[in-house]
Amino acid sequence: MTMRTVYVNGEYLPENEARVSIFDRGFLMADGVYEVTNVLNGKLIDFEGHNVRLDRSLTELGMKRPAAYDDLLEIHRELVTRNAINEGLIYLQVTRGNSGDRDFHYPPEETEPTLVLFTQDKPGMIDSPVAKRGARIISVPDMRWGRRDIKTVQLLYPSMAKMMAQAAGVDDAWMIEEDHITEGTSNNAYIVKDGRIITRALSHDILHGITRAAVLRFAREAQMEVEERSFTVAEAMDADEAFYTSASAFVTAVVEIDGAQLGGGTPGPVATRLREIYIEESLKHAI
Ligand code: PMP
Repeated sequence: MTMRTVYVNGEYLPENEARVSIFDRGFLMADGVYEVTNVLNGKLIDFEGHNVRLDRSLTELGMKRPAAYDDLLEIHRELVTRNAINEGLIYLQVTRGNSGDRDFHYPPEETEPTLVLFTQDKPGMIDSPVAKRGARIISVPDMRWGRRDIKTVQLLYPSMAKMMAQAAGVDDAWMIEEDHITEGTSNNAYIVKDGRIITRALSHDILHGITRAAVLRFAREAQMEVEERSFTVAEAMDADEAFYTSASAFVTAVVEIDGAQLGGGTPGPVATRLREIYIEESLKHAI
């Protein structure tokens, strides 16, 4: 792999020269938040949405904003250019910074946040093989904390759940709490029944997906019925279709849940159509 240029606290550096302190709160306490913005045709998808959610995560944790909107946009664009990203992702992380020691208490107000950004080159996202054949998933208990609406870097449980999925020979996992699906390990979950798109309502229980917001808007504009409510695994198994959304997966059909095949085992018409609309509209509005 070629050496990337990354961004750390005001500097563009070769990836092997980028440094963050061992006392950084992100490293010691997972005291950090992140965003992942998609790049298609060298342009940013829904940068605005990711910026609004970043602000919300920072506000909820009482963390300082490390850079203004225009500066963040410029850093994103600069990294796309310097790393020649055509299809890929930009990862951004903000932490509460270097407290100079390990301490549960937050560091003094004047402590500067840490800002890190790097690119991931991912050619072929639009023509993803998993999206073509449809994903197979398992359900696992949701063992995360109670503020999943804040996009923190505490990703150990989602990571464990991905490993459970891998061990089970499937693509991903959906998480269950009190018999109802919360969301996927790194995506929002949906089922389709009798033409209605059903997805859990926004609350502290799930991440407020930027792709979710866009897809629900496109679905409503296309006169599709949307119902925001919780659903069970049994309902999902009995659904006509299922799918998930995220910045990197767009809309991806689910064709098997806990070994039960859905709608003939191939991506259904609603998921397929929404994926087309989402990609088309995103390309149109990319900046
Ligand atoms: N839920 C979780 C738990 C996630 O990690 C993600 C991906 N960041 C999503 C949902 C989807 O969010 P978005 O559409 O903003 O990528």
